Amino acid sequence: MEPKPNVSFENTAVAFAHRSDAMLKRMRLLFRLMHYPFWLHAGIQLANWGLKRGLPIKGLIKSTVFEQFCGGEDIASCGARVQELARYGVGTILDYSVEGKKTISSFEHVKDQILQTIREGSGNPHLPFAVFKVSGIANVDVLTKVQAGEALDPAETEAFERAEKRIAEIFEAAAKAGVRIMVDGEESWFQDVIDRWVLAAMATYNRQTAMVYNTFQLYRHDMLRRLKDAHHDAVANGYFLGAKLVRGAYMEKERERAKAKGYPSPIQPDKESTDRDYDRALQFCMNNKQRVFLVSGTHNELSNQVLCELVDLHGMKRNDARVYAAQLYGMGDAISFNLARAGYNVAKYLPYGPVAEVLPYLSRRVEENSGMAGQRSREYKQIKQELVRRKTVRSSFPTIGKN
Ligand SMILES: Cc1cc2nc3c(=O)[nH]c(=O)nc-3n(C[C@H](O)[C@H](O)[C@H](O)COP(=O)(O)OP(=O)(O)OC[C@H]3O[C@@H](n4cnc5c(N)ncnc54)[C@H](O)[C@@H]3O)c2cc1C
Repeated sequence: MEPKPNVSFENTAVAFAHRSDAMLKRMRLLFRLMHYPFWLHAGIQLANWGLKRGLPIKGLIKSTVFEQFCGGEDIASCGARVQELARYGVGTILDYSVEGKKTISSFEHVKDQILQTIREGSGNPHLPFAVFKVSGIANVDVLTKVQAGEALDPAETEAFERAEKRIAEIFEAAAKAGVRIMVDGEESWFQDVIDRWVLAAMATYNRQTAMVYNTFQLYRHDMLRRLKDAHHDAVANGYFLGAKLVRGAYMEKERERAKAKGYPSPIQPDKESTDRDYDRALQFCMNNKQRVFLVSGTHNELSNQVLCELVDLHGMKRNDARVYAAQLYGMGDAISFNLARAGYNVAKYLPYGPVAEVLPYLSRRVEENSGMAGQRSREYKQIKQELVRRKTVRSSFPTIGKN
């Protein structure tokens, strides 16, 4: 077998080939602002306030943070981004990112959007997965009570049953359309309810291949064991385990609640423990590749490197459908585009939704980018590096035009 070239995440020409100079300059400004999260957050709060009062600021938001992290206000307007990613071998995972609403009509609306993403994905190789968050279609206060073993009143019982129906409808639609579907991981105090639903769906729909994927958040100290238990259940009951691995997005919230309510924090003691378990989980999935379908959702370069080495070590084709790397749109481009160029399966979440309603999602992205100093600085450095590289190339070859 011919040795395959190693992947490098240093190639900024590959990472940003899909970005014009003007876009890169806007990105540079945005990532520089991430050094001042207080002001950026204040800006988002102000935008929220202004939009609610009808101030004409939508254009400004759209051309800055929204353009960086989102695909558009509806599925149709995401089309250009889907094509753009596809041109470089990167798949899209359409993600309706409206959060925090608790009315029945909103749950139904979100469900309809998810069903629409499933219809879009049917037979479309550029949309390899659909995805959803249970909190978008179910009242999490009710799920929290269920997990805590508390009695529900009749209205809550009805709300719970309706949520079960919505979820069942989504899984069934995905299976009928032949679209693989991932369920995002959320807060630990209602995650057990989600796990039960997703596990049941896997046992039903993952008989021939993995159609349904659950999420495993390795910032939880019990998660590696839970992953192994899930694998054990899949083996015992003859279905495939779909596993999306992530480190986890709600660390502060988890720690604060545990402290406030006086129970031990479910979060690992330190970042090293999370990193260690993430890479062990990658290894575990790959060692059990006959039974496990893996999506590795991370912007961590080392973990992506580990994934690549494992794929090659196991003698798998780089485009084996059992293994995907995934990043979020607007982040980790050096990883996504270099992985795709080296022949690995890659897809990016592409959030969409009305500008005013995706502000909570945008706020979290700002927080994440300002929180993870190393990676944020890295993105910023790579953008600057690419702008300098383009300038140098143009001064050496003046006939090359700006893109
Ligand atoms: C495609 C994709 C899908 C995602 N889906 C989900 C999802 O369904 N549910 C979800 O919760 N998140 C999800 N995320 C977000 C993810 O969990 C991380 O918050 C984010 O990607 C940052 O982690 P990282 O591995 O990319 O980078 P890194 O910078 O290497 O890791 C940062 C993460 O490490 C952990 N960490 C940081 N400090 C500590 C500490 N002191 N102790 C313990 N752990 C620590 C936290 O989880 C933090 O988010 C997703 C991310 C991607 C790319």
